[in-house]
Amino acid sequence: MAIIVCGHKNPDADSVTAAIAVADLLSKRGMEATPVTQGPLTPDAVFVLEKFGVAAPAIETDATDKEIALVDHSDLAQSLNNLDKGKVVFIADHHKLGDVTTPNPLEIWVMPVGCTGTVIKAMYDFYGIAITKAIAGICMLAILNDTVLFKSPTCTAADKAAVEALAKIAGVADYKALGMDMLKIKGSVEGIPAVDLMNRDYKDFNMGGKKVGIGQVEVLDLSLLDKIKPALVEECKKLKSDGRHTVLLLLTDIMKEGSEILVVSEDASLVEKAFGGKVAGALNSMWVDGCMSRKKQVVPPMEKAFA
Ligand code: MG
Ligand code: MG
Ligand code: MG
Repeated sequence: MAIIVCGHKNPDADSVTAAIAVADLLSKRGMEATPVTQGPLTPDAVFVLEKFGVAAPAIETDATDKEIALVDHSDLAQSLNNLDKGKVVFIADHHKLGDVTTPNPLEIWVMPVGCTGTVIKAMYDFYGIAITKAIAGICMLAILNDTVLFKSPTCTAADKAAVEALAKIAGVADYKALGMDMLKIKGSVEGIPAVDLMNRDYKDFNMGGKKVGIGQVEVLDLSLLDKIKPALVEECKKLKSDGRHTVLLLLTDIMKEGSEILVVSEDASLVEKAFGGKVAGALNSMWVDGCMSRKKQVVPPMEKAFA
């Protein structure tokens, strides 16, 4: 039985490229493995694959009776449906350890770095397997994507070293320029419906027994979102009415390096406690200076506040 290699729901560039790379690595280690995604690709992920001539994986949403390798997540809420009816045999990730458990032993590579792509580089090196030009290219762009060109506080020295090494293998001289082309596509909001922006990078979490949804839209300039903000608040409200205690949408300005957080909650004081600020204005929002990373700067304080 082939192992399916799968990233989180609402696949981003890292989830897609990591699935492709891990399937390649497992195959070269003599296993049968195939990459999948849980949904259609984001425009920036399409750019990444096309740039290096890599085909998009097939879509799969159910784990029943399958062997699974998880990449870029280990949270049940973000994983394939019926994960408990499949067999998780491998995890490569760079987030907090989630709530996936297994009855079987498995291989886990989880490191506190900025991107699964960096973990993958370490795995190829560990097994002494050469990385192809195309896989080096897509993983390099995934690292630049997740770390916002090294600006995110999640970025580590290992991420920078991995990008340098992968850029050489991929034959990319100016990786920052290529990364900026990708971020322009990632941050484009013109003509995109609010519901699509809401879902662009959205994740559900279980916090102290409560369902909390946190989305993120990264733009080059926050003013690009001015007109659509009220519609985004409505999308947050819709998600909340579907059984969630709280829905946050981070509107991240990658040049100013901070986020305006839209808050729709049963108890906004928990969110205020998490960030030490006040939710205010017609949009029920707060500006959090320096906040760029959901993983490092939003999920931990929220979990603490909801504990
Ligand atoms: Mg991801
Ligand atoms: Mg990632
Ligand atoms: Mg991300």
